[in-house]
Amino acid sequence: MPPLRHGYFHIPFCHRVCPYCSFFKHTPGSTDMPAFIDALLTETRLQTARHPFQPHTLYFGGGTPTFLSETHLDDLLTRLKDLIDCSQLTEFTFEANPRTVPPSKAELLRSHGVTRISLGVQAWDTPTLTTLGRDHSPSEAATTFATLRQTGFDSLNLDLMFSIPGQTLDTWKETLHRSIDLAPDHISAYNLNYEEDTEFFDRLTRGQYRELPDQDADFFFTALDLLEAAGYAHYEISNYARPGHTSRHNAAYWFSQDYLGLGPGCTSTVAGHRWQNIRDTPAYITRLQNGELPATDLETLTPEQRRTERFGLELRTLQGLPLHLVHPPQHPLLHQLAQDDLIHLSNTHITLTRLGKPLADSIAVALLG
Ligand code: SF4
Repeated sequence: MPPLRHGYFHIPFCHRVCPYCSFFKHTPGSTDMPAFIDALLTETRLQTARHPFQPHTLYFGGGTPTFLSETHLDDLLTRLKDLIDCSQLTEFTFEANPRTVPPSKAELLRSHGVTRISLGVQAWDTPTLTTLGRDHSPSEAATTFATLRQTGFDSLNLDLMFSIPGQTLDTWKETLHRSIDLAPDHISAYNLNYEEDTEFFDRLTRGQYRELPDQDADFFFTALDLLEAAGYAHYEISNYARPGHTSRHNAAYWFSQDYLGLGPGCTSTVAGHRWQNIRDTPAYITRLQNGELPATDLETLTPEQRRTERFGLELRTLQGLPLHLVHPPQHPLLHQLAQDDLIHLSNTHITLTRLGKPLADSIAVALLG
């Protein structure tokens, strides 16, 4: 088997928990950070002994990877490079919270070969940031962005969110304009999802918040129009990039490539098998201290599962969904959707039209049959 090319490291710690967030994360509590780092490196050693690993992309996500102190980051990244062959690495991303990247930490990440930072800005107005429970101010985000540029990062992503309770189309436009003015290389613009087990979901079920699909579409098209006019290519439903700055790591997920996930709560897919690590950081550390892998759910993916995933992911991309995945090949819905100007059909692929883009998920479900 050729070496795995993509690796994800999960750092689950956040200063505080945002009320909409469904990722595996928590405040650090009494976590022994050196023990956590040892556990992450032990898992890397055990897994790479089983699965040859020569990463082309690495991604540190969370949680908040930049929550780790400079001492701990330096230790982790120094020892990691002794464990894995980074000679083919072309994209090395760190997610960052605007409050947690002083110039010295930015320099440290650069010195360890990090090439790309994804900055969790979400919005540029204080009321929206307050609703989201974010712990940074607009000025802190602007300062951190400037710091990252001055440090020499030439691939910066801004994460933005829309359809947030209380957010208006005007404040969303201001967020987009302010983002464009900074000239990031990549922008991710996500529609807020009300995920189960979040405070936002509870507020939705209590009737305090409402889902507004028409408003979602207005926000989506506003982003599409402003970002394309500013020179960003819309290459995935939630992602826009300047030439040469599409995310190779995320593309690996979208196009069903294998990847190794390391850290509590994260998932790996290797050679038709998928597993998830235990979603409990103290238990994760203990298992690895005992020399045991922390995987909990191991499943073998069926061809139908893989096909279903491809519908959900590839239809969202600029490249589109291969036509041969649709059964029967002359699915009656195909021509109806094309007539309604929701999809475009080439000889080989189905792509979404402008009108179809906000309906990606329901079109995928309908075509899947
Ligand atoms: S900082 Fe990010 S990972 Fe942490 S709770 Fe907020 S959204 Fe979730």
